[in-house]
Amino acid sequence: MKWVVTSAWPYAHGTPHLGNIVSSLLSADVFNRYLRLKGYETIMVSGSDEHGSPIEIKAIKLGLDPKELTDKVHQQIKDILKGFNIEFDNYTRTHNTTHIKYVQEVFRKIYNNGYIFSKYDELLYCPKDKLFLPDRFVIGTCPHCGYDGARGDQCENCGKLLDPLDLLNPRCSICDLKPTVKKVKHYYFDLPKFSDKLYRWIKQSKTLSDNSKNFSLQMIKQGLKARSITRN
Ligand SMILES: [Zn+2]
Ligand SMILES: [Zn+2]
Repeated sequence: MKWVVTSAWPYAHGTPHLGNIVSSLLSADVFNRYLRLKGYETIMVSGSDEHGSPIEIKAIKLGLDPKELTDKVHQQIKDILKGFNIEFDNYTRTHNTTHIKYVQEVFRKIYNNGYIFSKYDELLYCPKDKLFLPDRFVIGTCPHCGYDGARGDQCENCGKLLDPLDLLNPRCSICDLKPTVKKVKHYYFDLPKFSDKLYRWIKQSKTLSDNSKNFSLQMIKQGLKARSITRN
Protein backbone atom coordinates (compact mmCIF):
# COMPACT_ATOMS: atom_id res chain seq x y z
CA MET A 1 0.00 0.00 0.00
CA LYS A 2 1.15 3.58 -0.75
CA TRP A 3 0.69 6.40 1.77
CA VAL A 4 0.84 10.19 1.58
CA VAL A 5 1.70 11.62 5.03
CA THR A 6 1.02 15.31 5.60
CA SER A 7 1.01 17.74 8.52
CA ALA A 8 -0.46 21.20 9.14
CA TRP A 9 1.57 23.89 7.38
CA PRO A 10 3.44 26.09 9.91
CA TYR A 11 2.67 29.81 9.62
CA ALA A 12 5.85 31.64 8.55
CA HIS A 13 5.37 34.72 10.77
CA GLY A 14 7.69 33.70 13.60
CA THR A 15 9.89 30.92 14.90
CA PRO A 16 7.65 27.92 15.70
CA HIS A 17 7.47 26.96 19.38
CA LEU A 18 7.80 23.46 20.79
CA GLY A 19 4.01 22.94 20.67
CA ASN A 20 3.97 23.46 16.88
CA ILE A 21 6.69 20.85 16.47
CA VAL A 22 5.14 18.24 18.76
CA SER A 23 1.48 18.63 17.74
CA SER A 24 1.83 18.18 13.99
CA LEU A 25 5.34 17.97 12.50
CA LEU A 26 6.87 15.44 14.90
CA SER A 27 3.77 13.23 15.00
CA ALA A 28 3.71 13.10 11.17
CA ASP A 29 7.37 12.06 11.19
CA VAL A 30 6.77 9.33 13.79
CA PHE A 31 3.82 7.97 11.79
CA ASN A 32 5.84 8.08 8.57
CA ARG A 33 8.74 6.16 10.13
CA TYR A 34 6.31 3.57 11.51
CA LEU A 35 4.79 3.01 8.04
CA ARG A 36 8.24 2.66 6.45
CA LEU A 37 9.33 0.13 9.08
CA LYS A 38 6.20 -1.85 8.21
CA GLY A 39 7.43 -1.88 4.61
CA TYR A 40 4.95 0.57 3.07
CA GLU A 41 5.90 3.07 0.38
CA THR A 42 5.32 6.61 1.71
CA ILE A 43 5.82 10.22 0.75
CA MET A 44 5.79 12.93 3.45
CA VAL A 45 5.00 16.52 2.46
CA SER A 46 4.32 19.89 4.07
CA GLY A 47 5.59 23.46 3.84
CA SER A 48 5.58 26.98 5.24
CA ASP A 49 2.32 28.95 4.94
CA GLU A 50 3.50 32.37 3.74
CA HIS A 51 0.09 34.02 3.24
CA GLY A 52 -2.35 35.64 5.65
CA SER A 53 -2.80 38.78 7.71
CA PRO A 54 -0.55 37.77 10.70
CA ILE A 55 2.42 37.71 8.29
CA GLU A 56 1.53 41.08 6.78
CA ILE A 57 1.12 42.72 10.22
CA LYS A 58 4.39 41.29 11.51
CA ALA A 59 6.24 42.44 8.37
CA ILE A 60 4.82 45.98 8.60
CA LYS A 61 5.79 46.17 12.29
CA LEU A 62 9.34 45.01 11.50
CA GLY A 63 9.58 47.37 8.51
CA LEU A 64 10.12 44.43 6.14
CA ASP A 65 8.53 43.22 2.92
CA PRO A 66 6.36 40.11 3.72
CA LYS A 67 8.56 38.05 1.38
CA GLU A 68 11.72 39.11 3.26
CA LEU A 69 10.12 37.98 6.53
CA THR A 70 8.93 34.61 5.19
CA ASP A 71 12.29 33.94 3.47
CA LYS A 72 13.92 34.27 6.88
CA VAL A 73 11.33 32.27 8.83
CA HIS A 74 11.10 29.51 6.19
CA GLN A 75 14.86 28.94 6.51
CA GLN A 76 14.55 28.97 10.33
CA ILE A 77 11.82 26.30 10.20
CA LYS A 78 13.93 24.16 7.85
CA ASP A 79 16.88 24.40 10.27
CA ILE A 80 14.64 23.41 13.19
CA LEU A 81 13.27 20.40 11.27
CA LYS A 82 16.84 19.32 10.58
CA GLY A 83 17.74 19.74 14.26
CA PHE A 84 14.83 17.52 15.29
CA ASN A 85 15.72 15.01 12.56
CA ILE A 86 12.27 15.39 11.00
CA GLU A 87 12.58 14.23 7.39
CA PHE A 88 10.10 15.49 4.80
CA ASP A 89 10.44 14.24 1.22
CA ASN A 90 9.25 17.69 0.20
CA TYR A 91 9.09 20.62 2.63
CA THR A 92 7.98 23.49 0.39
CA ARG A 93 6.31 26.92 0.72
CA THR A 94 3.02 28.45 -0.45
CA HIS A 95 4.71 31.21 -2.47
CA ASN A 96 6.27 28.87 -5.03
CA THR A 97 5.20 28.72 -8.68
CA THR A 98 3.78 25.17 -8.53
CA HIS A 99 1.60 25.98 -5.53
CA ILE A 100 0.39 29.32 -6.93
CA LYS A 101 -0.50 27.73 -10.30
CA TYR A 102 -2.31 24.82 -8.65
CA VAL A 103 -4.40 27.08 -6.37
CA GLN A 104 -5.33 29.31 -9.33
CA GLU A 105 -6.42 26.25 -11.37
CA VAL A 106 -8.60 24.96 -8.52
CA PHE A 107 -10.33 28.32 -8.02
CA ARG A 108 -10.81 28.83 -11.78
CA LYS A 109 -12.49 25.42 -12.00
CA ILE A 110 -14.82 26.19 -9.07
CA TYR A 111 -15.62 29.60 -10.62
CA ASN A 112 -16.38 28.09 -14.05
CA ASN A 113 -18.69 25.55 -12.39
CA GLY A 114 -20.74 28.40 -10.90
CA TYR A 115 -19.83 28.04 -7.22
CA ILE A 116 -18.23 31.47 -6.75
CA PHE A 117 -20.19 34.74 -6.65
CA SER A 118 -19.29 38.34 -5.84
CA LYS A 119 -20.92 41.00 -3.68
CA TYR A 120 -20.09 44.35 -2.13
CA ASP A 121 -18.96 44.48 1.51
CA GLU A 122 -18.29 47.35 3.88
CA LEU A 123 -14.74 47.24 5.23
CA LEU A 124 -12.69 49.36 7.60
CA TYR A 125 -9.92 51.34 5.93
CA CYS A 126 -7.00 53.23 7.47
CA PRO A 127 -6.38 56.44 5.47
CA LYS A 128 -2.99 56.97 7.16
CA ASP A 129 -1.55 53.50 6.39
CA LYS A 130 -3.55 53.30 3.10
CA LEU A 131 -4.68 49.80 4.06
CA PHE A 132 -7.94 47.85 4.48
CA LEU A 133 -8.13 46.49 8.01
CA PRO A 134 -9.32 42.86 8.17
CA ASP A 135 -9.63 40.98 11.50
CA ARG A 136 -6.35 41.36 13.38
CA PHE A 137 -5.51 44.73 11.84
CA VAL A 138 -8.22 46.38 13.91
CA ILE A 139 -8.80 46.53 17.66
CA GLY A 140 -11.60 48.11 19.66
CA THR A 141 -14.26 47.60 22.32
CA CYS A 142 -16.19 44.29 22.29
CA PRO A 143 -19.96 44.95 21.83
CA HIS A 144 -20.78 41.88 23.99
CA CYS A 145 -18.59 42.26 27.10
CA GLY A 146 -17.10 45.76 26.83
CA TYR A 147 -13.47 44.51 26.78
CA ASP A 148 -11.34 47.23 25.16
CA GLY A 149 -8.63 45.11 23.50
CA ALA A 150 -10.91 42.99 21.27
CA ARG A 151 -9.56 42.03 17.82
CA GLY A 152 -11.60 42.39 14.62
CA ASP A 153 -12.13 38.62 14.32
CA GLN A 154 -12.66 37.63 17.96
CA CYS A 155 -12.84 38.97 21.50
CA GLU A 156 -10.17 37.27 23.61
CA ASN A 157 -12.05 38.15 26.79
CA CYS A 158 -15.50 36.59 26.11
CA GLY A 159 -14.48 34.37 23.16
CA LYS A 160 -17.26 35.63 20.84
CA LEU A 161 -16.50 35.71 17.09
CA LEU A 162 -16.65 39.23 15.67
CA ASP A 163 -16.74 41.10 12.40
CA PRO A 164 -14.41 44.16 12.36
CA LEU A 165 -17.52 46.37 11.89
CA ASP A 166 -19.00 45.05 15.19
CA LEU A 167 -16.26 46.75 17.23
CA LEU A 168 -17.16 49.90 19.14
CA ASN A 169 -14.51 52.62 18.99
CA PRO A 170 -12.37 50.76 16.36
CA ARG A 171 -8.66 51.62 16.00
CA CYS A 172 -6.04 50.65 13.43
CA SER A 173 -3.65 48.16 15.09
CA ILE A 174 -0.67 49.77 13.35
CA CYS A 175 -1.17 53.53 13.93
CA ASP A 176 -3.98 53.55 16.56
CA LEU A 177 -6.11 56.02 14.55
CA LYS A 178 -9.85 55.66 13.82
CA PRO A 179 -10.51 53.94 10.45
CA THR A 180 -13.16 54.92 7.87
CA VAL A 181 -15.70 52.59 6.18
CA LYS A 182 -15.30 51.74 2.46
CA LYS A 183 -17.37 49.59 0.08
CA VAL A 184 -15.44 46.93 -1.86
CA LYS A 185 -16.26 43.98 -4.12
CA HIS A 186 -15.47 40.53 -2.72
CA TYR A 187 -15.74 36.95 -3.93
CA TYR A 188 -17.49 34.17 -2.01
CA PHE A 189 -17.46 30.37 -2.23
CA ASP A 190 -21.10 29.25 -2.37
CA LEU A 191 -20.87 26.58 0.34
CA PRO A 192 -24.68 26.39 0.95
CA LYS A 193 -25.06 24.87 -2.56
CA PHE A 194 -23.26 21.77 -1.24
CA SER A 195 -25.44 21.30 1.87
CA ASP A 196 -27.40 18.24 0.61
CA LYS A 197 -24.38 16.54 -0.95
CA LEU A 198 -22.27 17.06 2.19
CA TYR A 199 -25.10 15.88 4.44
CA ARG A 200 -25.46 12.60 2.53
CA TRP A 201 -21.68 12.04 2.34
CA ILE A 202 -21.10 12.63 6.07
CA LYS A 203 -24.11 10.52 7.06
CA GLN A 204 -22.89 7.41 5.16
CA SER A 205 -19.18 7.80 6.08
CA LYS A 206 -17.64 4.77 7.78
CA THR A 207 -14.36 6.48 8.69
CA LEU A 208 -15.50 9.67 10.47
CA SER A 209 -15.98 9.44 14.25
CA ASP A 210 -19.53 9.81 15.63
CA ASN A 211 -18.43 13.00 17.34
CA SER A 212 -17.25 14.76 14.17
CA LYS A 213 -20.23 13.36 12.22
CA ASN A 214 -22.77 14.83 14.66
CA PHE A 215 -20.90 18.12 14.88
CA SER A 216 -20.79 18.52 11.08
CA LEU A 217 -24.41 17.43 10.53
CA GLN A 218 -25.53 19.93 13.16
CA MET A 219 -23.65 22.71 11.34
CA ILE A 220 -25.42 21.83 8.08
CA LYS A 221 -28.83 21.73 9.80
CA GLN A 222 -28.21 25.21 11.23
CA GLY A 223 -27.49 26.46 7.68
CA LEU A 224 -24.08 26.83 6.03
CA LYS A 225 -22.82 30.30 5.11
CA ALA A 226 -20.97 31.39 1.95
CA ARG A 227 -17.23 31.73 2.69
CA SER A 228 -15.34 34.84 1.69
CA ILE A 229 -12.31 33.89 -0.45
CA THR A 230 -10.77 37.28 -1.30
CA ARG A 231 -9.24 40.10 0.73
CA ASN A 232 -7.95 43.61 0.32
ZN1 LIG B 1 -16.06 40.31 24.52
ZN1 LIG C 1 -3.40 52.97 10.55
